[in-house]
Amino acid sequence: MTDRFNGKKVLVTGAAGFLGSHLVETILNEGGLVMGVDNFLTGNADNLAEIESENFAFVEADVIQPAGNYLQGEVFDYIFHFASPASPPWYQKYPRETYLVNTVATDNLLQYMQATNPLGTFVFAGTSEAYGDPLEHPQRETYWGNVNPNGVRSCYDESKRLGETICGVFNRDFQLDTRIVRIFNTYGPRIGADDGRVIPSFIMSALKNEPMTVFGDGSQTRSYCYVSDLVEGILRLATNPSARGETVNIGNPGEFTVKDTAEIIWRAVYEESSVAKIEFRQLPGDDPTRRKPDISKAQQLLQWEPQVSFEEGLRKTVAWFAK
Ligand code: NAD
Ligand code: UDP
Repeated sequence: MTDRFNGKKVLVTGAAGFLGSHLVETILNEGGLVMGVDNFLTGNADNLAEIESENFAFVEADVIQPAGNYLQGEVFDYIFHFASPASPPWYQKYPRETYLVNTVATDNLLQYMQATNPLGTFVFAGTSEAYGDPLEHPQRETYWGNVNPNGVRSCYDESKRLGETICGVFNRDFQLDTRIVRIFNTYGPRIGADDGRVIPSFIMSALKNEPMTVFGDGSQTRSYCYVSDLVEGILRLATNPSARGETVNIGNPGEFTVKDTAEIIWRAVYEESSVAKIEFRQLPGDDPTRRKPDISKAQQLLQWEPQVSFEEGLRKTVAWFAK
């Protein structure tokens, strides 16, 4: 355990979500004074239920409004802007909420930081979706991506890209310390059981002994990072003095087809020899074909790389879902 956040005032938006709740917990354990904000659009108060620290305060608010409305002059050393629907079914159900929280809320929170503590650090939850359906493999931070500006995933992908632009403007033109983490598919305890993402969806089906729904022929690939590894990467990015203004991929470079993912998950729930139940469904529009992070920048800048194997992470996640 380190004390990177000892006495630091930290704001986490999206605190009742999967990643936000893990950030809150870890920062509190490292001595931070944390305020969490969430409007429960896709998150859940249960995710914060175990937090009893007197150093934690929670505000129920929609962060799309001007930040002064709900922060009332509080001054923060760090702002982690993690509020946003994150799974395709959720962001497609809430497309306006998604593009507004990644753009207008990012601008509002940065204006707030500029007015209250221009020396603070702002961390934006970017995404591997910034690379769209990538034509370069693996994806390095220098790759500009291959993104459909007006398709079923655009409310998310393009607003995350504009969110990055807004961070860049505040960094270059207004000298704020902004940092962007491009997060690749992450899983672990507290990921929404019903949010439709591949890992919870397959685990839930397997636990119910029902067929796992593989979209398309299952040959598309993803790289899965366990949540504790991701959080450590994000906190190193936030606190490393050399990372000001930087954009960094954080993810696990292990690459799996979706069909293999289904089989591995089935074996994590049942014994080795059990035959996975799989049902094939139509592939959704603009579903990226391949995805794998190049993490050499995180290795060099942050001395970070993932520690938890897919098998070990799945074991912990399945145990949590089974509970
Ligand atoms: P999540 O849905 O579990 O959490 C998001 C939280 O934001 C929820 O609690 C939701 O209620 C809250 N929220 C949404 N709009 C809000 C608003 N206007 N005001 C206040 N709260 C609001 O998703 P997650 O997986 O924890 O993702 C967190 C962040 O990380 C998101 O920005 C997401 O885009 C990004 N990200 C996640 C992944 C991943 O694999 N988990 C990958 C790439 C990027
Ligand atoms: N997927 C699937 N079955 C599901 C959920 C997802 O085959 O029940 C596929 C989806 O089409 C995509 C991959 O798994 O190719 C990862 O999907 P997810 O929604 O987790 O995240 P994405 O990386 O696409 O944003």
